[in-house]
Amino acid sequence: MSETPSETPKTPEVYKCCENPQITYLAPVNININERTIGSVDVWRCASCKKKFCEEKQLGIESITDIVGMPRIGHDEKWGVVVSKLQKGKEKWKLVRLKQNGIIKYETADEKILDLKIENYKIVDDFHTSFLIEDHLNRAVEI
Ligand SMILES: [Zn+2]
Repeated sequence: MSETPSETPKTPEVYKCCENPQITYLAPVNININERTIGSVDVWRCASCKKKFCEEKQLGIESITDIVGMPRIGHDEKWGVVVSKLQKGKEKWKLVRLKQNGIIKYETADEKILDLKIENYKIVDDFHTSFLIEDHLNRAVEI
């Protein structure tokens, strides 16, 4: 047998997002630096309530979902990735939940908390930028 193992991640423990959760894998978003993939975000969707769930994966590090569970997202939030211009490599990006407008408390790699301003689901800051996961499904994003 020369069959290679499937790359599709296995369905996580059902997350109680609604009365009848039917969570299936939707798509990955790859995070690239200089055309090299350094990590990815796996996107899952509930077929019943259409809520999306995301899981951050750093290349070479096993999934942490088993421990922390799928993080919950508010109905007024969207999944996004913050990109820091001050950091390098795997410290350069982080999966976050973005509100349409307001301030996000962002924890940096050296554990400082920054207040970053959000306008229309996008971070507006001299040293940080962001993009929405839903705009980049099945694609690689160069950061
Ligand atoms: Zn659901």
